Amino acid sequence: MGEGSKARRYTLWPRSRCIRARSELLMHRDRVLTAMDVYGLLGNPVGHSLSPPMHEAGYEALGIDARYVTFEPEPAELGRAIDGAEALGISGLNVTIPFKQDVLDHVEADEMASRIGAVNTIDFTGETVTGHNTDAAGARRAFERHDVALDGETAVVVGAGGAGRAISFMLADAGASVAIANRTESSAHELAAVVPCATGHGLDSLEELLADASVLVNATSVGMEEDTTPVPAEALHGDLAVLDAVYRPLETRLLRDAAERGATTIDGAWMLLYQGVEAFERWTGRDAPVDAMNEALRTEL
Ligand code: NAP
Repeated sequence: MGEGSKARRYTLWPRSRCIRARSELLMHRDRVLTAMDVYGLLGNPVGHSLSPPMHEAGYEALGIDARYVTFEPEPAELGRAIDGAEALGISGLNVTIPFKQDVLDHVEADEMASRIGAVNTIDFTGETVTGHNTDAAGARRAFERHDVALDGETAVVVGAGGAGRAISFMLADAGASVAIANRTESSAHELAAVVPCATGHGLDSLEELLADASVLVNATSVGMEEDTTPVPAEALHGDLAVLDAVYRPLETRLLRDAAERGATTIDGAWMLLYQGVEAFERWTGRDAPVDAMNEALRTEL
């Protein structure tokens, strides 16, 4: 746990003792061998999540005694679930659909999470319960990992949902000018109105926008579990770095088309990895073992 952390409150009993009589366990509480930190994911459903193996690989690599557990409260129970997690001494929670927006009512959101309007990481280790959005930093670090510069570049973001918002703010903060294109064009305009140096468009403008762009991000769900792409292949070119937020499959049709035209391609698992790395580092106060977490993640995909 990081500096200033609250006290550990979880005890882990050795497996061999768990099969002994409960009465004996209760009589020998002084034999508890270790205490652990508990982290987790709040969503509904969460069965498909890749976060538990990724985070637990990180704890194992650093020798941190911790577990990462999934929780599926009913939407109406969200506030009670967060209060309960704090009361029980849980150290941190990631947040996914359908709670990312509603969590804002229950935590002290940082500036980026407030701007994006969504929280994907709750930190219980400080004096107050704070909310953060690590999707933005996850995308930034995915570009960094591939040596893609953003400052002064022209970027096109396809999608104006949660991922599109996080990535558009990140790109603007990094110094890029951002063109946001969305199927529902009005949503692109609404987002562009709050993101610095951004413009909003419909998908029919993509070819024109991409001619002068050096960065492209797919922040729609198009391409997930099916061989479709939101961007016409003819619009892609070799001067582009293309990040697809979709990570199932890893090699989407967009990334295949982009690679065929000589573009730099970055799959969605890089963004997923680094949003987890950001949460891990915030909660534990330690540099994350990125390679171990990456290997665990890619083994699951
Ligand atoms: P969201 O808030 O529901 O937004 C969905 C976006 O996709 C909207 O812009 C929507 O356009 C667009 N869209 C959906 N179907 C479309 C279609 N058939 N044609 C064109 N556009 C379409 O979802 P989200 O949370 O932003 O997630 C978007 C994708 O990013 C998902 O695949 C998600 O798994 C992925 N993601 C990845 C990471 C990561 O770490 N790699 C993190 C977050 C999200 P309209 O506004 O017109 O409906």
